Amino acid sequence: MSTHQLILKQRKELLAVLCGGGSAEPLDCVLDLLLAWEVLIWEDYLSIQVAEKALSYKVRQLLDVVYDKGEDACSLLLAAMNQVLPEEQKAGLCFGKECAEVGKNRPDTATLTLLADRPVLVRKLRDNIDGALNVLLTTGCFTIKDCDVVQLPVYTPSQQVRRLLDQVRFKGETAAKTLLQYLEQTETTRPNPEDKENHLSANCMRYQKKLQSSVAAQSHSLSTYGGTGHFSLDDIYTDGLLEVIDGSGETTMLGLEDVVGPVGTLNEDADTFLVSGEAGSGKSTLLQRLHLLWAREALLTNTFLLFPFSCRKLNAEHRELSLKELLFLHCCWPDRGQDEVFQFILDHPNLVLFTFDGLDEFKQGFTDEERHCCPTKQVPIPVLLFNLLQGTLMKGVMKVVTSRPQAVGPSLKHYLRKEVLLKGFSPGGIDCFVKKHHSDPAMARRVLESLQANTVLLSLCHIPVFCWIVTKCHQELLGGQDGIPQTITDVYLLVLQYFFQRKSSQPQGVLGKAWLEEHLDTVLKLGQLALEGLGASCYVFSGYELQRIGLTEQDVSMGFLIYCNDLSVTDCKRYEFLHITLQCFFAALYVVLNSKKNRSVIYRLFQPQYKQLSGLSQRCLGHCIDSSVEGVESRVTETLNLQITAQFVSGLLSQRHHNLLLDCCPTAVRERKAKQVVKSLSKGMQRHFKSIPRPVEGEKKSMHAMPSFVWLIKCIYEMQDSSIAQDTMAKLDVEHLKLTYCNIGPVECTALAYVLKYLRNPVGLQLDNNSVGDVGVEQLLPCLHICHSLYLRNNNISDEGIRKLLEKGMTCERFQKIALFNNNLTDACTQHFAWLLKSKQNFLSLRLGNNNITSQGVEQLAEGLSYNQSLQFLGFWGNKIGDRGAEALADALKNSTTLIWLSLVDNGVGSAGACALAKLISQSKTLEELWLRGNNLSPEEEEELSKQESRLTF
Ligand code: ADP
Repeated sequence: MSTHQLILKQRKELLAVLCGGGSAEPLDCVLDLLLAWEVLIWEDYLSIQVAEKALSYKVRQLLDVVYDKGEDACSLLLAAMNQVLPEEQKAGLCFGKECAEVGKNRPDTATLTLLADRPVLVRKLRDNIDGALNVLLTTGCFTIKDCDVVQLPVYTPSQQVRRLLDQVRFKGETAAKTLLQYLEQTETTRPNPEDKENHLSANCMRYQKKLQSSVAAQSHSLSTYGGTGHFSLDDIYTDGLLEVIDGSGETTMLGLEDVVGPVGTLNEDADTFLVSGEAGSGKSTLLQRLHLLWAREALLTNTFLLFPFSCRKLNAEHRELSLKELLFLHCCWPDRGQDEVFQFILDHPNLVLFTFDGLDEFKQGFTDEERHCCPTKQVPIPVLLFNLLQGTLMKGVMKVVTSRPQAVGPSLKHYLRKEVLLKGFSPGGIDCFVKKHHSDPAMARRVLESLQANTVLLSLCHIPVFCWIVTKCHQELLGGQDGIPQTITDVYLLVLQYFFQRKSSQPQGVLGKAWLEEHLDTVLKLGQLALEGLGASCYVFSGYELQRIGLTEQDVSMGFLIYCNDLSVTDCKRYEFLHITLQCFFAALYVVLNSKKNRSVIYRLFQPQYKQLSGLSQRCLGHCIDSSVEGVESRVTETLNLQITAQFVSGLLSQRHHNLLLDCCPTAVRERKAKQVVKSLSKGMQRHFKSIPRPVEGEKKSMHAMPSFVWLIKCIYEMQDSSIAQDTMAKLDVEHLKLTYCNIGPVECTALAYVLKYLRNPVGLQLDNNSVGDVGVEQLLPCLHICHSLYLRNNNISDEGIRKLLEKGMTCERFQKIALFNNNLTDACTQHFAWLLKSKQNFLSLRLGNNNITSQGVEQLAEGLSYNQSLQFLGFWGNKIGDRGAEALADALKNSTTLIWLSLVDNGVGSAGACALAKLISQSKTLEELWLRGNNLSPEEEEELSKQESRLTF
């Protein structure tokens, strides 16, 4: 097939990959290459990069321009895309035969050199924009205004460089020469990481090798697999979903290598990269992968020395240390030339990277009050850590920090270069993880089939730590006698059972019905340690602490506690729970099973944030608490952990586990505790409902949920008691429930639907900007009958999710509006909407903006539209329906007596389509607005059409 045909045939896919992530960077890189290869001339470039046009418009323009240039240009476009796109996006695309090298003579002017070297210059100048602007300004080539235009904060650094290059080109030969000279100079004065070895002494090289081998040893295997399997990180590591939101609110998906890359940079002056995600989303594992790849020189190749730290371990460091001591004592000791190695680190901050795992677990909340910049002076660890993060100490060293998002306060945000969100596994990721975990393909298939059959469990698997447990406990799962797990408590009870089973003395490791009672003593001791630890932000325990509680070697050998994997030189063994969520689970078991403890512990667990802590931490691990070092941000983490604990407490006290707990705890005590939980949940919900403001006249009564609302809903779900859900929801009287940016994934959707289905009155459910996905959509179905409107903008939903949603939606009388702006929808979804419109003659609003729908999709939709006599709002902004689609729409809507508003902004519509639409509106008695901005019409045509019909808006 010719490359001409390849471009045409794959147009939709090429458009999707160049627009898919919402970032302009891939398109910009392709344009850089095409300019450099002289496929595009400057005028072409300007016709593509039209400032106010949407990304999809620009990509389409590029495809059209190149297509018109013929076969050679098409093959070079495919070659450029092949070079720019990451591997996973290239799957399924065909790039044709490799094209011949673009052989060119060196350009003879500086302006042409800027074009020919554009891709390289963008990379080189990215970290150097200020310097270049400075030179251009002082030599008079640029004015202050020119600099401002380049540095507009809406642009990413790469975009700023491109604007700088465009501006220099515009200024002419002298400016271009100045810039090239400046670059030449910086190249010769800046230490080049590529040839760093040339300047390195033998001591530094030796130290690097030592550090690499200890980091490799430490990161080689996953601690959760410690005693129970033999997986190396290589065998099991599965890419998680990484996202970054740039300054203009656009979301871009990232690969591991981009975590410290330029995409998504918000603050050029800062050197701290944050990876944030919920407990169990895989933050530590991601860092571990980064460490391992660095140690093997497979990633971060410009980083000469990488120093990994764990904040929970730094909590145990009570000495005052200098930077030098921190690095050498906690990471790796240089065998020779200590001073020389340290001096190298001080002199080359750009070759050094520090990672701090679990900043949310650091006892003291971040503050920038105390400044410290001396690398040799001894100071308390928090002072050292916070000054490193701020860049007061060792400016220029890159820092990668992980934390739960809620624990990052505004004071720290100020010092972040960018924030990357880790959102767990995608559906494909779950598949891949299970296959990696089970080398026997038949077993992997069985586990995956059982997940497909139980979507509640599948939704849990989006969180890697749950995925690990579910996969690990597949035998219990597949042959489960106690019903299929539904809640996270069920899943953690499985893991408990699994670990006890491994150590069981019974034949074939079978556990009897009373397995929990048999191990009650171990469970209570571990539970006490866990709860006391949570109250005191203590996640690492010494042998002494274990002894104090009476934990024996045998208890430890069960595998719930593991030795701290640590590079530092310490004289005693220290322990931690396999994962923080397991610590919360044991704490919950203790709260439920311990009959001695005081009565108020449950009430305190369900207290609103912060209040719960004082009570718990005073009683627990007094020696662990240093009251002077508690800050607001660290308390947020305690609250989050106690909330997870409360969720487990709710689950354990559910009627479902009555039999399991029967002989472990007197029924009366259990029932009293269950009542306390129900009362606390009801009170918590009341508090939320009271905060609902009175509706403004003419507006709907609306509630914007706080994060703890989702937590309370999750607790109710864990109880699996419909009467509790029913009673709680009976008191909620709103017409609109807003849960935007609330980190709602499939797990949360399950709980929401379980509870919201009991609402008395119909509600508009607004879930924009979360991570619902297809699995989450499926989880929402049980509450669809109560939703009159569903807002799911920006939620990673594809055609398959829509198919399931509409199948149910068709039967829901009240369901009238849906908003799906910015998802992954294609033509394949429109047939389902057509059925919906055909069969539901009360459907009011359909918004499908910013998806990948073409004329073909619209033609399918037209089927349903022509039968519908209720639709009032139809939004198609930013699709690709073209003339054919516009004509099909106009034809389908010609008999509509209800349509009020239609948006076809940015859809590649030309004069034929616009004429059909103009006719539609002139004949319609109801249509009030028809938006056509950003289409393929000349200004004259636009003017002419607006004159004819004032309801047409451009
Ligand atoms: P977090 O630091 O966000 O709490 P962890 O990185 O400790 O989460 O992950 C918990 C567990 O989930 C890990 O021990 C591992 O078993 C599993 N896991 C997490 N991320 C991955 C991944 N990318 N690949 C494979 N397993 C993972």
